[in-house]
Amino acid sequence: MASAYELIDHEFDVVVVGAGGAGLRATLGMAEQGFNTACVTKVFPTRSHTVAAQGGIAGSLGNMGPDSWQWHMYDTVKGSDWLGDNDAMEYLAREAPAAIYELEHYGVPFSRTEEGKIYQRPFGGHMTEFGDGPPVQRTCAAADRTGHAILHTLYGQSVKNNAQFFIEYFALDLIMGEDGACQGIIAWKLDDGTLHRFRAKLVVLATGGYGRSYFSATSAHTCTGDGNGMVARAGLPLQDMEFVQFHPTGIYGAGVLITEGARGEGGYLTNSEGERFMERYAPNAKDLASRDVVSRCMTMEIREGRGVGPKKDHIYLHLDHLDPKVLHERLPGITESAKIFAGVDLTREPIPVLPTVHYNMGGIPANYHGEVLDPTPENPDRVVPGLMAVGEAACASVHGANRLGSNSLTDLVVFGRAAALRAGKVLDRNAPVPGINQAEDDKILARFDRLRNANGGKPTAKLRDAMQRTMQEDAAVFRTGKTLRSGVERMSAIFAEFADVRVTDRSMIWNSDLVETLELENLMINALTTVVSAEARHESRGAHAREDFPSRDDETWRKHSLAWIGADGQVSLGYRPVHVDPLTPESEGGISLKKIAPKARVY
Ligand SMILES: Cc1cc2nc3c(=O)[nH]c(=O)nc-3n(C[C@H](O)[C@H](O)[C@H](O)COP(=O)(O)OP(=O)(O)OC[C@H]3O[C@@H](n4cnc5c(N)ncnc54)[C@H](O)[C@@H]3O)c2cc1C
Repeated sequence: MASAYELIDHEFDVVVVGAGGAGLRATLGMAEQGFNTACVTKVFPTRSHTVAAQGGIAGSLGNMGPDSWQWHMYDTVKGSDWLGDNDAMEYLAREAPAAIYELEHYGVPFSRTEEGKIYQRPFGGHMTEFGDGPPVQRTCAAADRTGHAILHTLYGQSVKNNAQFFIEYFALDLIMGEDGACQGIIAWKLDDGTLHRFRAKLVVLATGGYGRSYFSATSAHTCTGDGNGMVARAGLPLQDMEFVQFHPTGIYGAGVLITEGARGEGGYLTNSEGERFMERYAPNAKDLASRDVVSRCMTMEIREGRGVGPKKDHIYLHLDHLDPKVLHERLPGITESAKIFAGVDLTREPIPVLPTVHYNMGGIPANYHGEVLDPTPENPDRVVPGLMAVGEAACASVHGANRLGSNSLTDLVVFGRAAALRAGKVLDRNAPVPGINQAEDDKILARFDRLRNANGGKPTAKLRDAMQRTMQEDAAVFRTGKTLRSGVERMSAIFAEFADVRVTDRSMIWNSDLVETLELENLMINALTTVVSAEARHESRGAHAREDFPSRDDETWRKHSLAWIGADGQVSLGYRPVHVDPLTPESEGGISLKKIAPKARVY
């Protein structure tokens, strides 16, 4: 049956799956080092979700006042609620300035200060003086279209360096050798229906997040966690899946993002009494407290009857007091979004906003070189040969339980670059690419064929809707044992119903019905591991806020969750320790262990 499909063969040193910021930075780095590199992407590179990033990219350039990578690292550690790995967080903060200057030299048109330096704005959770001082201006921006600028620049540079692009190819699965090494991928070319086998010495997954497992999300419809699904089907675990970030300011009803840069430029939130309530909850950082904190405060205001609007079910974001020149120069994109999606002229009126699913802290466990991990109790840092993961798909873990705004774009370029540097060290240029692995090919094609011909009673759209509503209701900003048990039960039932899915289009060419079905299966793997990991974590940390366990419990729970999922939807859990040691010792200018030891997290 599977042999009914013919495979077109390709051989590369490196295959990168994904052409967002992370995938393109990795592709560019690999190509620059002379590796024969392919970049496989299901959408045109500059349509990847990174294009929508607005507010900016964090790095301690210190262009607008004093700053240091040590302060940046401290804020990231605190933002992660002490779940991030200190080696990876140090690497992120330390390497950020170099990675940003590199982007500047590649041609990213950053906004400028009067003296011509890169402009930097304040962002949530980024402070001076190890969190004791006022907000720092650390986030480099190209107006409020930073992701757009970065993505277009990196694509141009990758083409210039002769990386080979395979555009509108949908990666189906990883080809895994019996020794546990990754040997390549199989992908489906969407416009002519051909199937392609890419054999490579190294596969880099840069497939982005899984925001679309929720009903209301700021992410693109293509954010379906495909790489996470591929890894899970290969029998590898996903890490820290319970940590899902809600962005405080999605436009009410539409879910479209209003960047945190809006508050960075002076915007503030009010309740139905016109009160700037964040001053009550976070006296120092106020509206620039970190995202999990602000989202919870907004939810509490609404619950206590101080929401705005006829249903008292949202909050106002004010920018109407700002100089229209600032809006025009620094926030033109959201000025337009507010008009289109909320009918609001933000020079005159506040924008109705609501916390909206925005980012996945969890994903494919990786170290700070980008290498994917397959932890065992004896070796929690065991590396999977031939496989890397970078960007939102990965869990390095630099965001821990809560990501700071503008740290994701930094993550993309710092770890995209790190993956290429590592490959330069460990890849054997003279080794042959792995041979053909018939058993794996047959397995991958059998799954594809089964879904293509799925003739059950449940349309894909119906199952997707059930999943999205379940996640929205049962794994929200606040969680309890009761909602999470309900989430596990409902998601398990929906997962089981997928065996009865119906695909109506059997064509191999532009079959969006089949694409959505493949994406749905990946989304459900992400959704189910999220609720099961969340139900098991009996504490509150970062974005995981349990009303039945309101405190953080470092003794028992300062550890990464690992979730393996079987074809039957059975999830088994394990844990691996947090990396506590930073890379640079204090004697050499590093941050001291005492400084970054867990304490109460107040803003
Ligand atoms: C609206 C919005 C605004 C944001 N603003 C900011 C900001 O200002 N600052 C910040 O730091 N962060 C921001 N973020 C977060 C940040 O933009 C994302 O985390 C980041 O862009 C993800 O990049 P990525 O390269 O990992 O993946 P993506 O950009 O999502 O790209 C994924 C790539 O994988 C490919 N792919 C996926 N599945 C497959 C498959 N099966 N086969 C082949 N290819 C596949 C896609 O084609 C795509 O090229 C924002 C996010 C959103 C949603």
